[in-house]
Amino acid sequence: MPTRYIGRFAPSPSGPLHFGSLVTALGSYLQAKSCHGKWLVRIEDIDPPREVKGASSLILKTLETFHLFWDDNVLYQSACHERYQAVLQSLLSHHQAYYCDCTRQRVQKLPNGHYDGYCRHRHLKINQSQLAIRLKQNHPISEFTDKIRGLQTVETASAQEDFIIHRKDGLFAYNLVVVLDDHKQGITEIVRGADLLPVTAKQISLYKLFGFSLPSYCHLPLALDNNGNKLSKQNHAKPIELNNSKSLTALALQFLGQCLPKDWQDATQQQLLDWAIQHWQIAKIPKQNTQLPTNIR
Ligand code: GLU
Repeated sequence: MPTRYIGRFAPSPSGPLHFGSLVTALGSYLQAKSCHGKWLVRIEDIDPPREVKGASSLILKTLETFHLFWDDNVLYQSACHERYQAVLQSLLSHHQAYYCDCTRQRVQKLPNGHYDGYCRHRHLKINQSQLAIRLKQNHPISEFTDKIRGLQTVETASAQEDFIIHRKDGLFAYNLVVVLDDHKQGITEIVRGADLLPVTAKQISLYKLFGFSLPSYCHLPLALDNNGNKLSKQNHAKPIELNNSKSLTALALQFLGQCLPKDWQDATQQQLLDWAIQHWQIAKIPKQNTQLPTNIR
């Protein structure tokens, strides 16, 4: 029997959802539900300095207001440190990872801006100072296929880079924990924003290292501001208005290249979503990022 589809939405609680994150939530939800699958929510709260108080509960409340109801319990990454730590220890003891004291300035000055493996053979020890931990990249991924954007080729220096899996400020790196949790939650397909295309090959290399079965990937178009920047919590994108869920859902569906029922203004939020599940066509999703009208940014 084929594995049942399990998808997810994995917001970081660095602020309320904005139109761009609604597009990601809706796109991942519709893809999962149109495949008769489960849709999980994971709060990626691994970076306390960037966390905004109350953002996690506001994000969940926003999803509920939009009738984007998740299956199973929400997973909070802040509750998983022991599991992550055990993986780090195992990588270190098997010499698959190493400590590094190189500064960001040093790495930025390197010819292609990618780490050159300087600390690979220095055998630094943790108590010398605050050190980052890097993965020894023995499974470089030179290409992968995205279901929306097609074949993606990866620059050699980027593919071969020993990337950070634990930061020198003591925080776990996103690229490590996203893979550990997607695997733990049995995610079969990852639908997320195209800003994460550049790190996907690094994440696939971890699947290969751990021997995990690989999910498929769908990277959704990003919503851009006038300057061509991604709408983000950092550049103060407008929070989603909770009293306007149907119109925003309709806009997000159009943004994703989907059609709307003629009478959508008379439908309930649930009827609009049910219609969208029935008529969801991943092939219609635009392959490029798009600027948004100013009133919804
Ligand atoms: N937590 C990430 C974000 O909010 C998304 C991670 C992912 O979907 O892989 O941008």
